Amino acid sequence: MSDHATNRRFERSLALHERASKALVGGGQPHKRSRLPWPLVIERGSGCRIWDADGNEYIDYLMGYGPVLLGHAYPRVIEAVTEHVRRGNVYNVGHPLEIVLAEKLIQLIPAAERVAFFVGGSAATTGAVKFARAFTGREKVVRCGYHGWHDWSHSERGALQAIAAYTLTMTFNDLDSLEELFRLHRGEIACVILEPTCHELPHDGYLQGLNRLCHDNGALLVFDEVKTGFRYALGGAQEHFGVTPDLAVFSKAMGNGFSGAVVVGKADILDSTADVWIVGTFHGEVSFVAAAIATIAEMEDKRGVAHLWRQGDTLLAGYREMTARLGVENVRFGGAGPMPFFGIGGGDERLDRMRDVFYEEALDRGLYLPDTHIWFTSLSHTDEDIARTLDISEQALRVAKEAY
Ligand code: PMP
Repeated sequence: MSDHATNRRFERSLALHERASKALVGGGQPHKRSRLPWPLVIERGSGCRIWDADGNEYIDYLMGYGPVLLGHAYPRVIEAVTEHVRRGNVYNVGHPLEIVLAEKLIQLIPAAERVAFFVGGSAATTGAVKFARAFTGREKVVRCGYHGWHDWSHSERGALQAIAAYTLTMTFNDLDSLEELFRLHRGEIACVILEPTCHELPHDGYLQGLNRLCHDNGALLVFDEVKTGFRYALGGAQEHFGVTPDLAVFSKAMGNGFSGAVVVGKADILDSTADVWIVGTFHGEVSFVAAAIATIAEMEDKRGVAHLWRQGDTLLAGYREMTARLGVENVRFGGAGPMPFFGIGGGDERLDRMRDVFYEEALDRGLYLPDTHIWFTSLSHTDEDIARTLDISEQALRVAKEAY
């Protein structure tokens, strides 16, 4: 595709991008700055489709980085939110719906005996860590994966460096790396927080081993289910893998795009830390709570989890078959059904070029595939969408292979 054609096809996107660069810090959040040669500015979505500012249509696998579980602008959710916010959205005193949602979460999530509301995954993981510190009287935290932008979790430029000393890192699927940390920091570790799975699946017995190690060492196990929650199972990856942590964080997919989060956990822990100062003006606001109740109800009515698994596993099987048949090597597979991943491994100049061509060709044919981030299937990805995805991917892969 010529630069000229690209520019014409993305004229409004490019103009908006230019305005953003002068109005938004850094032109927008770093993860929104696409690596592709043109900026994607999305104007609207419906189901698993999104349209950019120039009206180009794509099948979406980013799904807002995970929140959009049912589909964009999903009618049942929009109607529930509209009905409730018409009567008011924030009171900062109790509301019946927050109790209804908390009771539903307690019914669905194995670790949930109590529920605390938050806004955003970063705030909720920080809240879980604070509960764990308060409960154990210890200060150090072991993490594994991304848990948000707050200083304890992401101690890069701008973060208070003293905090970094209290956050230790372990390797996923490696119990020895945790055992070593417990040995080196005996009696000091409040909790171990990790994503139970993302690109990599847990080895047999790994999550059970973590639970045992934590409890043998007086620490709490916290599952960060910000991405896996309501996808691997309605009760999260903890239900799917049969391992119940002490605390867990759920956020993204709860409200099908409306922003909120919860920390759930065992009653003895959260009752004895109920005096910890964790409050927020927008915690449990009505639009999120109404959206979450409607989202969960729709997932239950439509057997949504089974659908996410089927669609994602079909994609993964399709990519495996296609790459074997076309003789394309240096590809990467990750995750599973509800959060699958297929990518071209970069590393040298030719592979980088092949990878870029693949994503550009896919995008050009109406397919929006995250290039490094895990993908998300939704209730709105139909069998036809999956077949079309594989068809477009094969066309893109053939061109990319030539570019290698
Ligand atoms: N934990 C995990 C596992 C996440 O994927 C994310 C966001 N990508 C977060 C925490 C932080 O959530 P938020 O961006 O809503 O603050």
